[in-house]
Order: sequence, then C-alpha cells, then structure tokens
Amino acid sequence: MSAREWIGKDFYRELGVSSDATPDEIKKAYRKLAKENHPDANAGNAEAEKKFKAVSEAYGVLSDTSKRKEYDEARRLFGSGGPGGFGFPGGGGGAGGFDVGDIFGQAGQQQGGFGGLGDILGGLFGRRGAAGATANRPQRGTDVETDVRIDFTEAVKGATLPLRLSSPATCSTCGGNGAKPGTSPRTCSTCQGSGLVSRSQGAFAFSEPCRDCRGRGSIIDEPCPECAGEGVSTRTRTLTVRIPPGVADDQRIRLAGQGEPGRGGAQPGDLYVRVHVAPHPVFGRQNLDLTITVPVSFTELALGGTITVPTLEGKVSLKVPQGTASGRVLRVRGKGIAKRDGAQGDLLVTLQAAIPSKLDDKAREALEAYADAMAEHDPRPEITELLEGR
Ligand SMILES: [Zn+2]
Ligand SMILES: [Zn+2]
Repeated sequence: MSAREWIGKDFYRELGVSSDATPDEIKKAYRKLAKENHPDANAGNAEAEKKFKAVSEAYGVLSDTSKRKEYDEARRLFGSGGPGGFGFPGGGGGAGGFDVGDIFGQAGQQQGGFGGLGDILGGLFGRRGAAGATANRPQRGTDVETDVRIDFTEAVKGATLPLRLSSPATCSTCGGNGAKPGTSPRTCSTCQGSGLVSRSQGAFAFSEPCRDCRGRGSIIDEPCPECAGEGVSTRTRTLTVRIPPGVADDQRIRLAGQGEPGRGGAQPGDLYVRVHVAPHPVFGRQNLDLTITVPVSFTELALGGTITVPTLEGKVSLKVPQGTASGRVLRVRGKGIAKRDGAQGDLLVTLQAAIPSKLDDKAREALEAYADAMAEHDPRPEITELLEGR
C-alpha cells in the first residue's frame, strides 16, 4: 500500500463520519464497524474481512492527530480521488501509531483469524504491525570491520581512498521487508504477530516460538527474489574513506552508520576501517617524527661538512658539525608529520659512520699516515683506564 493509494481513499466515508468528526465520534464509529465485521464473527466472509481491513486502516490514520492532519492536508491539496504524485511525509513514523490492542483487548488472541491488520499498518506507516513489534524489537545493526592497506606516504599525508565493500545491507529491492515488490508481509495469524504461542502442560503454561512464522510474527507469502525474504542482501558498495594525515599502523577509523542495517527501523551499525601501513624502505616513524638513518664517512664526521638528506617532500641540506660522533641524531624541524590539528613533527636524522670494506692503495697510504699522526691519541680512554686499573 502506497501513500498514493492512501490519498485516493476516503477514510471518513469508510467510517461513516463527517470530515469534522470528533475523535470520540471516530472511535465510536470504528468500534461499531470493527465489531460487526471482525473476522472472528464472520468466518469465511471475504466482504466482511475487506471492510474490516478498510475501517482499521481508516481508523489507523484518523485516530492519530498528526496523521489525520497530514491526511486532511493532502486531501485539500490533491482532492480526495486523484492519483496525485504525492509523497507522504512522515511515512516512517514509528512511535505513537495505532495500537490494535487498545480496541480489541485479548479478543484476537484467543481465537486467531486476525490476519491482515498488521500488513495494512505496516505498509502504511513503514513499520511492522503493532503486535509484531514485540517479536521484531528494533535492534541496532552490527558493527563491521574491514582492512585497508596504504603506503607509508599516504599514511603520513592522509589519503582519500575508494573502498569496495561486500557486506549485508538493507535489500534495495524490497526496502528491507523481505516481500516481493508489490506485496507486503502479513501478520502471522497463529501468534497474532507476537512470534510466540502459549502451550499449557498440566499446571504450567509455556511460551514457545511460533512454528508457522518461525518466531518472526509475520509471514511473507511471496519472498523478495533479491534477498529471499531476509530483507538484507549482500551488496557491493563503494565508499570513500578519508584517512587522516598521521594515521598509525593498525589504527581503526570509524565510519558512523556504515555498518550493517538495523532491524525494525533501528540505527545501522558502524564501519571500522583498520589501516595497515606498509613500511617505507628508508623512513621510519616515531609518533609525529619521521626517522631516517644516513650513512656518513668518517671524514665527514671528523671534519664536518654539509650533507643532503631526503625528506618525504624532497630534500634538505644538513650541516654536520666538526667532530660529530657516529650515531648522533640531528633534528630537522617541521619535516615530520603534520596533523590536521596543527601538531607538527620533525625529521630525526641518525648519522652512522660508514666504514669502507675495501681500500685502494692511495686511500690505504693516507689512512696509515693518519694512523701514525694519531698514534698518541687513545680513542677509548675509559676502557684503557679500566684495563690498567686491574
Ligand atoms: Zn529483498
Ligand atoms: Zn506466528
């Protein structure tokens, strides 16, 4: 049942009241008609069943102040008979709907034969029938986790990635109600939509899941071909994930509402994207600082000089002071990771003496001359002291 059909109906005429009838008059008219046409009193009477559904539908709208107002406005705008292209607002209104129990008390639950009401209300208001709500309590969707792999530079600078995701989502063919398009689920007549039936055994009464509807409270006569009646189908979606600059390996990014769909109109779950950062062949990370180890020659350390060091954006010149120890760390300000909040890391350059594994004759002679010149210089005075003191 669509909103369009709804506009084409005359609910006031259905209940036999005037369009300015008071809520009390509407209620009285409805009680009378519902009682006369109730399926329990008219077994097998299709005409009565049709009338019963019609007055129930009419009452469902006219008994609700806000829905009656919307209905009246729609009729004013589009006339009472035209098809109209009217998209009814507030169609998802779940709370405060028409409660069957108000009118019938327990009557329907004793004998059964009360099918159809839930599907009218469910179709009309985009929710399951009032009684069905017990078995199909709204439930937030499950959180989903997925992984992405990014390279080191993307992790430092941030990235926007397309993410292809195969996950359960609300079936787009049936809108999640599981019924073939053009049909709707009906309330299970065995359990009146509660999903439970009572069984007495001796002095005890048991509740057990209804067998006819398998505890769902509703029955789908013609399942949706896409999702086979589950209301949820596996869809491949492409999402855009924004990876913030400075994301750490194994960090999770939350995409609110992108998890599995909720049940019964509840919130969907969240999607967590776990980020795996591939290591860089040269750079490392310490929080917001980038690190790099740069081999330097003994003479560069001993004599001092200027070396060129790569950064993620290009390169910088770095002055090595005379007499720098191997292993010393020089800091290049502002060449680390820049976070969105303004936090800024540095590039930490570790200088490491590189010893040639082979020497040509000229280099060997020069080094031997150097060794002679330094003969009096003890490179490890503390160690010598320790050795001699023994
Ligand atoms: Zn479906
Ligand atoms: Zn049932």
